Amino acid sequence: MVIPMYNEAAVIPVLVTRLRPVLDALSVVYEVVAVDDGSRDDTVSMLSDHARDWPQLRVVRLRRNSGHQAALTAGLHRAAGRWVVSLDADLQDPPEIIAEMLRAAREDGVDVVYGVRGDRSTDTLFKRNTARAYYWLMRRLVGADLPAQAGDFRLLSRDVIEVLRRLPERAPVYRLLVPSLGFPSAEVRYVRARRAAGETKYPLRRMIALAWESMANFSAAPLRLATWLGMSSFLLCLALIVFGMVAYVAGATIPGWTSMFVAVLLLSGVQLVCLGLLGEYVGRIYAAVQDRPSFHIGSDSRDGNTSTGADPTGAESRFAPAVGARG
Ligand code: UDP
Ligand code: MG
Repeated sequence: MVIPMYNEAAVIPVLVTRLRPVLDALSVVYEVVAVDDGSRDDTVSMLSDHARDWPQLRVVRLRRNSGHQAALTAGLHRAAGRWVVSLDADLQDPPEIIAEMLRAAREDGVDVVYGVRGDRSTDTLFKRNTARAYYWLMRRLVGADLPAQAGDFRLLSRDVIEVLRRLPERAPVYRLLVPSLGFPSAEVRYVRARRAAGETKYPLRRMIALAWESMANFSAAPLRLATWLGMSSFLLCLALIVFGMVAYVAGATIPGWTSMFVAVLLLSGVQLVCLGLLGEYVGRIYAAVQDRPSFHIGSDSRDGNTSTGADPTGAESRFAPAVGARG
């Protein structure tokens, strides 16, 4: 298990009493990686107290508050399991369905099991609507295979974790990154509960940051905007230049106006087109820096079963034209 925590002292006792029986009942070897994301309250000391009589509880401390996705990254990189389930600390997502996730993964042979919030009526109206807008936009950017309303409660196989660990992405947004890899997946539905204690650690500011990060990570569309703006204003400028010329010939201008008008239009049109051009190249550099493989081998009949293959990434091409491909 990987559980990022930021100032979650209030929920830790509830979390431990609910999570531990669930995990013990699975009768598998497990560890719980609690990632303390630079909390300012008693989170760490409480975790350490609980770790004393729960040997499977492991506490990873980040030096400062780095954000939910960064804390998740730290946990995913440290977790050792054959299967890794990420969970929020606040018990909005019921740990009881972990058993179902594990069963789906083992029996159906899938690498990813998403926890999908079938019902979010306990979330505020604002949260539900912003979430709906977010998932709508992300589906358009990432493609239809993005499960709607799947947050960060999911099970990943070791193969997926290894692929994720190799990506040099600086600010991964897992709810988009994982579906974009295309591993076979299943879904488990549940009803989202209220926060067990404490209050949300995702104020509007962080929600906007996550939405921006998601878009910038998956699309060069904002960069491409300059190209389109440049092209269309360039065409507009050409039309206006013709207009200026006609006005000049008709004698309807004051001296000096036509030359200024034409010069300003021509130069600004050319500048915008050049900015767009730069944007196109920056987009490609960005894609190269992200270094997402352009494909993942699912299986090869000559290798037999790939899930035991030496290179779980199956990636052979380094430079992915991914950014912008869907932009
Ligand atoms: N979290 C974190 N670092 C942060 C903010 C949040 O590790 O900077 C954790 C938090 O402790 C919780 C999870 O991310 O386990 C989700 O946060 P929260 O439940 O407050 O978000 P919401 O459900 O309100 O969107
Ligand atoms: Mg929550």
